Amino acid sequence: MFDQQEPTLIQELHDPLWSDKQIRLLIKRDDLIHPEISGNKWRKLKYNLIAAKEQNKDTLLTFGGAYSNHIYALAKAGEEYGFKTIGFIRGEEHVSLNPTLQSAKDWGMEFHYVNRSQYRNKSDEEFLSELKIQYPTAYIVPEGGTNEHALKGCTEMVDEIDIDFDVIACACGTGGTISGIIQGLNENQQALGIPVLKGAAFLIEEIKELTGTNENWELNPDYHFGGYARINDELLDFIRGFYEQHQILLDPVYTGKLLFAIFDLIRKDCFTPGSTIVAIHTGGLQGWNGFLTRGLIDKTYYENLHRTT
Ligand SMILES: *Cc1c(COP(=O)(O)O)cnc(C)c1O
Repeated sequence: MFDQQEPTLIQELHDPLWSDKQIRLLIKRDDLIHPEISGNKWRKLKYNLIAAKEQNKDTLLTFGGAYSNHIYALAKAGEEYGFKTIGFIRGEEHVSLNPTLQSAKDWGMEFHYVNRSQYRNKSDEEFLSELKIQYPTAYIVPEGGTNEHALKGCTEMVDEIDIDFDVIACACGTGGTISGIIQGLNENQQALGIPVLKGAAFLIEEIKELTGTNENWELNPDYHFGGYARINDELLDFIRGFYEQHQILLDPVYTGKLLFAIFDLIRKDCFTPGSTIVAIHTGGLQGWNGFLTRGLIDKTYYENLHRTT
């Protein structure tokens, strides 16, 4: 179904901060996979799309919040690979769609709005079997895309890396991406996850369930900045500085927090000297739009961010 894809670019980042400490930091540019089906959302969808075709399904049905990168990527993937798409969206219907949902709609997605308590049922057996009866030709992808097919796609990130590394780091939401990564590591390699939500206890359980007895991973819960999609000036200043220094745009929900964390941990000597760290740029750049339309980020900040090169 898909042409063999080239491995994504790995770039070395240079900074006196880590060369003095004998640390190498590289970034794997999964944000460059596709302008819309970006980063880990593509990795997680790939084998789900193949499974959907094999099962002769003509529709992809999934769940997400109104600004979700997963909803956005799945809608585009549906358009590109010939599936109808249905999104169960958490929250009220709004008269004017936000940019994430507007794009998804333009790519053909049909929406059903569900309130928070209904939304909580989204992975209940009973609810799912009702959905299967109601939409017999639909292939159901869980929230955030995390399932065993998703893990397989994420493991390929690690397989693609052809340099020796000690630590691989990514931002964590549902934990699917890091679980796939963990499965691709050898015993001398460690995965470091940075949860972007407050209260990472559920995430630890989730990752244990997905990866079994693997122990070569850890989460650092200190970099959520107050919770999911919470930002502050320190984070925004960091993202601007990172862009000025490396000409790579991060997103404010996931990869900004990830790189902020890595810089801080290097500064605090948390990595063994001589370590090579690979950070995954998991994409998510469409996420900026939600902050801009809600007025949570100053437009001139965002415009200046791009004007620095
Ligand atoms: C969804 C997402 C993540 C988190 O992935 P999980 O598999 O849910 O942990 C990380 N980065 C970006 C850019 C994302 O969109």
